[in-house]
Amino acid sequence: MSKDKQCLMAIDQGTSSSRTIVFDRAASVLSSAQQEFPQEYPQPGWVEHDPEAIWESVLAVTSEALAGVDASRIAALGITNQRETTMIWDRDSGECVHRAIVWQDRRTADRCRELKDAGREAMVMEKTGLRLDPYFSATKVAWMLDNVEGVRERAEAGKLAFGTVDCFLLWRLTGGRVHATDASNASRTLLFNIHTQRWDDDLLELFGVPASLLPEVMDCAADFGVTDKSVIGAEIPICGIAGDQQAALIGQAGFDAGMTKSTYGTGCFVIANTGENALHSANNLLTTVAYRLDGNVTYGLEGSIFVAGSAVQWLRDQLRIIDSAPATEAIAQATGVVEHIHVVPAFAGLGAPYWDPDARGAILGLSRDSGIDEIVTATLQAIAYQTRDLVSAMSDDGIEPSIIRVDGGMVANDWFLGFLADILGLPVERPKNAESTVLGAAWLAGLQSGVYESTDDIAALWESDAVFESSMNADRRASLYAGWQQAVSRVRSQA
Ligand code: ADP
Repeated sequence: MSKDKQCLMAIDQGTSSSRTIVFDRAASVLSSAQQEFPQEYPQPGWVEHDPEAIWESVLAVTSEALAGVDASRIAALGITNQRETTMIWDRDSGECVHRAIVWQDRRTADRCRELKDAGREAMVMEKTGLRLDPYFSATKVAWMLDNVEGVRERAEAGKLAFGTVDCFLLWRLTGGRVHATDASNASRTLLFNIHTQRWDDDLLELFGVPASLLPEVMDCAADFGVTDKSVIGAEIPICGIAGDQQAALIGQAGFDAGMTKSTYGTGCFVIANTGENALHSANNLLTTVAYRLDGNVTYGLEGSIFVAGSAVQWLRDQLRIIDSAPATEAIAQATGVVEHIHVVPAFAGLGAPYWDPDARGAILGLSRDSGIDEIVTATLQAIAYQTRDLVSAMSDDGIEPSIIRVDGGMVANDWFLGFLADILGLPVERPKNAESTVLGAAWLAGLQSGVYESTDDIAALWESDAVFESSMNADRRASLYAGWQQAVSRVRSQA
């Protein structure tokens, strides 16, 4: 490979914004652009994105990032994306038949409950590693087929294509030539059997989804196609795709079984690499495809917390007790660990390991001297306690990480990471490049295009910025965590 052509471009199409970054071979950022796009809330519990707004934002940030570099130096493009969000479009016109139904959308909760009541969850969990929950794509696809006029007929006639956001972008970037996705995104649809690595006929039948809608499922590093010159002004091979959380694991160089990463953005997602073992959780975690390279699947055990950084936004925007998210650090530093106050940010129910959609948030343990500083500090602590909930569930499933690698916007907060290490009783390591998600997509593209020869080449580029060690004694850790567990038990809708 020519020395001049070793740059990598990656698109990160997230829930609230799209961004494109160009990296050099050593993972330094050469150019970058980011743009938010509108969220649509047509009814309570419904969340949609306009596919054209997603597409326009991706085009805008990609051309802005490309303007900052010589496109002929870019070896390949990687794509990472908000997962599970569902789109169906016309194979001839490329027009979507409906707005994208976003992962957060709960409109199919009743349908999921019906299927559970009919005793179908065990089969679904066995094949997909997931739960029967509106979070995943299958019931969203079925909703479009059943509620948008003419869509089921057109699907059955083979005129329509389904895809998650990666697949839609791939289609559009290649000028409608390629209908494919990768195994990590497919593993979040509830239609894909993670053991056979195929779309599963029983699941298609259960959810009423015609096979003609489905994309081809490829490795995460693969020759997906080439960008059409008329679309972004350059022909760049598309060589990597992974869902955002799996891309973050790759960006953290989490290639060995046992390696664990935790990403703190709007929500928090922990994934432990479980190697070739599709470990079935007895503690309400999900089994997922971490990545597939050269046809070999690496599995992950995943736990998600719906509210992490967004609890900090809530302090800023709803309670208005802080001016900015970073201000929480100095407040917590000055206040110190708060023992008796617990903020349980169950604004959208509780995710793993509780899966309690009807729980709601609370501030517990207030006394006459409690003030803003204690509430702010307790909010940061809550995010650490919730991480402990996930790591404890993983440990009960037999996964005992020796260190947790962290990334996402919140990891700029040293106080938070120090408390996290204390409450986990584990070292917490922050990389120099906290943009693990987009870096992971670039690295996948680099693997396929020959910029890197192996995952070892990539792991050698990963650099630590700081390690936060636990300095709390075990009794205090246990007593603080017991206080948290009691607070959670008080907000749960069922024990
Ligand atoms: P996303 O990709 O989900 O939009 P980011 O990874 O950009 O999120 O992280 C942004 C989140 O991190 C916001 O919710 C914000 O409140 C939180 N955040 C950013 N900086 C800090 C900080 N220094 N301390 C605490 N929270 C922070």
